[in-house]
Amino acid sequence: MDTLGGMTEGVPALLHILASRGIRASFFAALGPDNSGRAVFRVFRQQGFLDKMLRNRAPSIYGWRTMLYGTLLPAPRISEAAADILPRVKAAGHELGLHGFDHVRWHDRLLFMTREQVDEQIRQAQSAYAGIIGAPATSFAAPGWQATRTSRAALAAAGMLYASDTRGTQPFFPRFGSEVSPLLEIPTTLPTLDELLGLNGCTPEDFFSLILSRLEAGQPQVFTLHAELEGGPFKEAFAGFLGRCLDRGVTFFRLKNRAQELLEKPRDIPVASVYQGRLPGRAGTVSRQGTPEGRA
Ligand SMILES: [Zn+2]
Repeated sequence: MDTLGGMTEGVPALLHILASRGIRASFFAALGPDNSGRAVFRVFRQQGFLDKMLRNRAPSIYGWRTMLYGTLLPAPRISEAAADILPRVKAAGHELGLHGFDHVRWHDRLLFMTREQVDEQIRQAQSAYAGIIGAPATSFAAPGWQATRTSRAALAAAGMLYASDTRGTQPFFPRFGSEVSPLLEIPTTLPTLDELLGLNGCTPEDFFSLILSRLEAGQPQVFTLHAELEGGPFKEAFAGFLGRCLDRGVTFFRLKNRAQELLEKPRDIPVASVYQGRLPGRAGTVSRQGTPEGRA
């Protein structure tokens, strides 16, 4: 979840949907200020953002208040609302990890951040997390799928078991230039609702049918959803999709369990480069997995 609204309304809705289907999942929370309003100003820097906002009718999804946080309205701290909600996520048997501290800042500025600045983002997120849960997080999913050599080194030093920072096809050890990160990466492998909705007339039903067809193909997949969307205006479509998945025999796993399984045989995990690339329906670039190059 990226925003205060995602935390207070989206997460409880998702907990209800997942519990009713007996599914355990991985949640990643951004715990710093909700600066979502600042994302509006990306339009000036990233071609395609306004187009995406209009296509998705972002104000009707996120609400005008969220869009103004960090600009005309002061940025609220997500961690205050999270104190009631995150323990419920854990208690329900889901994995809980970090989705950064200041989501907008990491998304927009990571490529230019120093090691000290990245460390500070992680330190603040861990401090908020430990204040609520009582122990630090051991997994991380990067805001906006932004990863660099520096961020991976900082996450490894922060004691993460794995991260889910990129878009790709299978788990790997990321290579930046000649340097291979020792931190396992489990990439998101499927497109997201916000990317495809409205693109070439794609409806929520079209989107979830596409995802189901990919899940039925047999390879393990990582699907990323947003509490703001699948726990918000699209929750009925999402609940229906999960029902269809279960009817077709799709099984679910938490990323940390997959990580533990993979790390029993680290030599079987391939290395792959990471590059900044575009994806259909997404503004700007994301960190993407290159072609797997053989074993670590
Ligand atoms: Zn996010």
